This record gives sequence, C-alpha cells and structure tokens, in this order.
Amino acid sequence: MLTSEANKARASRRPERILIVEDEESIREAIAHSLQRESYEVLTAADGTAGLDLMQRGNAAIAFDLLILDLMLPDMSGFDLCRQIRHQGSNLPILIISAKSSEGDRVTGLDLGADDYLPKPFGMRELIARCRVLLRRWDAPPPPPPLLTVRDIVLNLHLANVLVRGKEISLSPKEFQLLEIFMLHPRQVLTREQLMKQVWGREAIGDYKTLDVHVRWLREKLEINPSQPEYLITMRGFGYRFC
Ligand code: CA
Repeated sequence: MLTSEANKARASRRPERILIVEDEESIREAIAHSLQRESYEVLTAADGTAGLDLMQRGNAAIAFDLLILDLMLPDMSGFDLCRQIRHQGSNLPILIISAKSSEGDRVTGLDLGADDYLPKPFGMRELIARCRVLLRRWDAPPPPPPLLTVRDIVLNLHLANVLVRGKEISLSPKEFQLLEIFMLHPRQVLTREQLMKQVWGREAIGDYKTLDVHVRWLREKLEINPSQPEYLITMRGFGYRFC
C-alpha cells in the first residue's frame, strides 16, 4: 500500500502537547490534571515570560499543539503574549481563558489571533471539548506542496498543469493523477497494484492494460524518445519507477 507522508506522520505521532500559561496555581494544576487524564502531554508556566521561554526552546508551531492562555498574568497580559506569538509567525492554536469576559475582551483576544475564548469559571469537560475541537481543526494533514518538480518536469497542483522542459502539456485527469503519484514518489518502484488502486480504485486492480496504456500516453507526452523512456521506467515483474 502507498503510504503518504501525512499518514506516516500520523502513525508515528507523539501525544499532543499542550502548554498552559496561568498564574493561579489551583486552576493551572486542575487543568493540567484533567488534560493529562485525557492522555495529552502537558507543560505549564506561571507567567508569560516562562511561557515564552518554553515555546522558544523549540519552534513554537512544532513544539506545542495548543496553548491555553490566561489573560491576567503577573508580568504581562495574555493579550501581549498572544500578539508576540502571532508576530513571530506562529499559527499555534490559542485558547484564552479569562475572568475578563466582556464582549470587548473576547473581541480583542480573537482580533489578536486567539482561536477561542472561554470565560472563567468553566467546567473541565467544556475546556477539554474546546481543546479537542482546536486540536482537530489543526490536525488536518499538511497540504501537499503546490509545485512538484522532478528533473525538468514541474507539476502544479493548484493550477493543475504540467510543464515539461518549460512547455505546458495537456493531460487527461487520469494521466495527471498518475503523474502526480509518480512525482510524489520519485525513484521508488511502484507496483502496478499500487498504481491501479490509487488512480482507479480497488475494484480496478488486475486491469493492468488500462494502466499500461496510460503509462504509454504519459511517455508520449513526457519523454524525448518514448520508445526509450528516461523518465518512466518499466521495472519488469514489479511495476514502474519514475526517474
Ligand atoms: Ca490570572
């Protein structure tokens, strides 16, 4: 089976890591405890500076999956922290928790780039549900890069076009899909079963003529000399290899 990079990343995924920045110890510990019970990995900071320190030890967007942020902190306001994080270009999901629950405060928080705002006091079940929503929203696999380039072939996923040695070629949707799979796995031997399943679906497995015909059409469009292919190589008894 072809495993995409996203699936691989998912399979080997570490537990989701949440940072809590909250100065009130009882609240901080209660949240940490509840989240740990849900199998999240939790780190805590009692003020903004300690929170920033933790985030800057790694790349914020990678090191943490979610930030739970109190607004009234001893050294800076949660608003300032939120602004700084966004200013650094991080898109880390931020859930603000605060006793400041006026509409103005909520709007300010959201305007500064927070993703959600939960007024205190709140129940732990609601907090966990909101964390789950934020984590799920950010859990989508990263989109494939818009441009795939292998040697002098450039496939643009956004524009759905292909340039071969600088010239745009016209491909059918199936040819495009097939080429995309090849270009996502350069130099790998892909079996005919894998390719059939990816492009035509499970039911089509075994109908290798269809695949072979499409490979031939692709060669006519990509290769300098289609009868002596340099890009789409037949691996006898296995399948095909691209470049
Ligand atoms: Ca506080």
